[in-house]
Amino acid sequence: AEQGVQDPMVLGAMGTIERHRFVDTALAGQAYEDTSLPIGLGQTISKPGVVSRMIELLRNGQTGKLGRVLEIGTGCGYQAALLGHLSRRVVSIERLRDLHLKARANLDTLRQHLPEWPDVRLVYGDGMIGHAPLAPYDTIIAAAGGASLPQAWIDQLAPGGRLVAPLEEGRAGTQVLTILDRLPDGSLQHSRAGAVLFVPLKSGTT
Ligand code: SAH
Repeated sequence: AEQGVQDPMVLGAMGTIERHRFVDTALAGQAYEDTSLPIGLGQTISKPGVVSRMIELLRNGQTGKLGRVLEIGTGCGYQAALLGHLSRRVVSIERLRDLHLKARANLDTLRQHLPEWPDVRLVYGDGMIGHAPLAPYDTIIAAAGGASLPQAWIDQLAPGGRLVAPLEEGRAGTQVLTILDRLPDGSLQHSRAGAVLFVPLKSGTT
């Protein structure tokens, strides 16, 4: 809320999904600070202020809800859990096998604490090709940024849907939060929502 997020549903999800469950015990004391933290393999759990702002932007699209969500970059599964809390139909892709497995374990633990656990499907694969079997998606959110939006994401975005992703712009290393809306007639509308800093989007799996 201090970061300007107002959507009560998003704030409610942030209050329900406990972030300390997604980081190593040594870092649990920092879990409620608004900072990114290491989760292994050179990756990070995103800043809660940015995660909540992006989910708020997603929910502020044409339909006013998340619908069927595609997340690229599961990491430790924190954002996937928030999305699941808000939409119940989430597909999340991770390209690093060890992180995919870590997220699976984290969400299994969470499931024991939360009744009526939603349908969050974790996929091990290259998120640059999206996940065609369950497309189209009403909302797409990326936790890693590249120089352009992969065509597969655009193809898998439903009419009336919204995509929110960091995109490198100009100087290497500078990223801008990009919003892409697919209007009901199929056309695309771009807008921008400020500077962000995410890990790089990489192709292939490891
Ligand atoms: N959503 C996470 C953020 C993890 S960091 C959270 O809740 O904190 C971003 C993740 O994107 C990293 O784990 C990285 O491995 C992953 N990533 C980068 N490129 C990817 C790709 N092409 N497909 C799937 N995951 C990717």
